[in-house]
Amino acid sequence: MLAGKKAIVFGVANDHSIAWAIAQAFARAGATLALTYVNEAIERRVRPLAEALGVSTVLPCDVSRDEDVRATFDAVREQWGGLDILVHAVAFAQREDLKGRFLDTSREGFRLALDVSAYSLIALARAAEPLLVPRRGSILTLTYFGAEKVVAGYNVMGVAKAALEASMRYLAWDLGPSGVRVNAISAGPIRTLSSAGIGGFKTMLHHHEERAPLRRNVSAEEVARAALYLSSELGEGVTGEVLHVDAGYNIVGL
Ligand code: NAD
Repeated sequence: MLAGKKAIVFGVANDHSIAWAIAQAFARAGATLALTYVNEAIERRVRPLAEALGVSTVLPCDVSRDEDVRATFDAVREQWGGLDILVHAVAFAQREDLKGRFLDTSREGFRLALDVSAYSLIALARAAEPLLVPRRGSILTLTYFGAEKVVAGYNVMGVAKAALEASMRYLAWDLGPSGVRVNAISAGPIRTLSSAGIGGFKTMLHHHEERAPLRRNVSAEEVARAALYLSSELGEGVTGEVLHVDAGYNIVGL
């Protein structure tokens, strides 16, 4: 489904990352991949994973640094001359802002969470635009239900995800006339490095299992299959969409 396509995936931290499941699914579908890492500690985990997948393009990129973003897409242009798929699976908030009262979120904590988790999508999309437009490419980001409703403990990240979802729609509007699609997957809770930092995450998993129509949690592989749909020609009529891959949790009222 992705034979001949070039895809860059931001957000692999280890083999539990949703981005890693997506990278594997894309590789199986025939895509040529580039992976990025935020710092040296993550690089040590990402390099062996990239090697296992036969990926040779592994680039440093802290998405909160414009110079890193520029350098990343300069490297992509040099190597590939264009780009078909960009996956943004990046988020960060201070641990103290992911528990207790949202009311106590500091100005700096808010700035940091919104910058890394939401503004970064805009920065990446802008840098990728010249590479994506000639190939009518696609951009995909990852969000969570906490953007729509209150999820105790998710706090500032819920606000960041709300900004991310709105940004996704505005980007879809701006890039649509060039044929570039922008979508989001709202994934149910999955055990990863990031989710371990959310206060009460275990309770979230149990709650989803009990209340979701499918009476279970979702896997990163299921999210990856939806990513394949949205990023391939199967999803070519879809843009500006938040696709819930959450065992149906979001439809339930009482
Ligand atoms: P993860 O920890 O594996 O991935 C998060 C990634 O963000 C890591 O690779 C980390 O290095 C990267 N990152 C953080 N700050 C960065 C920066 N400044 N520059 C570049 N990269 C940076 O966790 P995950 O759960 O796979 O998260 C991937 C995405 O999925 C996130 O957007 C997350 O909010 C979203 N999501 C996760 C869940 C879940 O339950 N795990 C549910 C819905 C959505």
